[in-house]
Amino acid sequence: MDAAEAVPPRRGRTIRILAAAIVRADRGRGALLRPMPPPPSESSEDSSACGSSTSAGPADRVALRISTGDALDARGMTSGQFLAEARRRGWRGREPLEAYRTLFRRDDPSALAPRGLAPPPPPILSRTDVEGLTVKFALRFADGLESESVVIPMGHRDGRVSRTLCVSSQVGCAMGCRFCETAQMGLLRDLTASEIVAQWRAARFEAPVPVDEPREGARLGHEIRNVVFMGMGEPTENLAAVLQAIRVLCDHNGGGLAASRVAVSTVGRLEGIRRLGEFIQEPGFRGLGLAVSVNAPNDRVRDEIMPINRAEPLEALLEALRAYPKRPSAALCIEYVLIPGVNDAPEHCDEVCARLRGLRCSLNVIPYNPRRDSPWSAPSEESVDAFLRRAVANGQFTKRRGTKGRDVMAACGQLGNPEIRRRRRAASSIDEDR
Ligand code: SF4
Repeated sequence: MDAAEAVPPRRGRTIRILAAAIVRADRGRGALLRPMPPPPSESSEDSSACGSSTSAGPADRVALRISTGDALDARGMTSGQFLAEARRRGWRGREPLEAYRTLFRRDDPSALAPRGLAPPPPPILSRTDVEGLTVKFALRFADGLESESVVIPMGHRDGRVSRTLCVSSQVGCAMGCRFCETAQMGLLRDLTASEIVAQWRAARFEAPVPVDEPREGARLGHEIRNVVFMGMGEPTENLAAVLQAIRVLCDHNGGGLAASRVAVSTVGRLEGIRRLGEFIQEPGFRGLGLAVSVNAPNDRVRDEIMPINRAEPLEALLEALRAYPKRPSAALCIEYVLIPGVNDAPEHCDEVCARLRGLRCSLNVIPYNPRRDSPWSAPSEESVDAFLRRAVANGQFTKRRGTKGRDVMAACGQLGNPEIRRRRRAASSIDEDR
């Protein structure tokens, strides 16, 4: 087992508890920051996120840092881990590898299910199509909890459409970012690696093919070009399962994605960034993308909207990003959710650009997608344009994130189902009454 993976750091748990305490203290407070008028500018629209494992090496030492459920589910295991388990059970020859490949390439568990190594995948509970292209779906797990995922189409200059899958790493989230729908749920539990991979499986094999893209002989489902950990949850709070899922998705016998097609988006936990920095130095993972939610030009603003900042201030985060061992040609993705009256003033733009100077990064501006009962509205197109133009004028490489799915709560920061928490509370009070 990799030393970095051996024990969840106590510091991380302390921060999670601290963030939860700050969230509780903050509940009920309204927006404290004043609205600012927008100035004049330019930019580019980008709906994408920023940003093969084999069976040997450190990947297998983490190997069986997999949950009890994953140990019986090939979907949560790399091919190396799976072959070790198959041989332990006396399965010889090429047959187990073929069975593993068939599971991932054709979604056919027939060779594995009788051996108890491919339990039925979690069913799709609901599916919402946005303009026939963006698809949000929920999976329901055995304990009744749900993950939400979004398949986002991306147009290319040559007319092709590829798809990015946004996956969840937890049910709910403990980080308490005030602009985020998921935060309203609190943290219900971490997902296992196989539950994360199950989201890819559902998108790959079960989400419907749009009528204008019939593919003869193909099963239903989308070619997934990119996977981004930007759904429910903070990936670095569940890093062992997230890294295991990435190993499976990037296994050339498994999901077959290149690591450069996978990105992890974090609230910016220092310990998580350090551990991701170690992970990308393993062979095959150097290209893994890192996106960090900065969302503010200074501690005053960030303290208001992201409780994590009170434990780990902005300058410490930027220091960790400067030390991050990315490839020389790679750029970090700095996410900036643009919230009217909070962080969209011209001086905010100047300040964040000044802070980012010297850090090779793309400033990814995300027009705020209001959560339920949000104290803030979405920014106007004029104010988004003004912010983007001013960032470009500051010499900052800048992109704009699209807002597909906002109307059906499928856009960035809008995943989450408060109903799950209510149902769970109701169920536990019934149990207590018995
Ligand atoms: S933005 Fe991310 S880290 Fe913050 S509460 Fe939402 S899911 Fe959690």
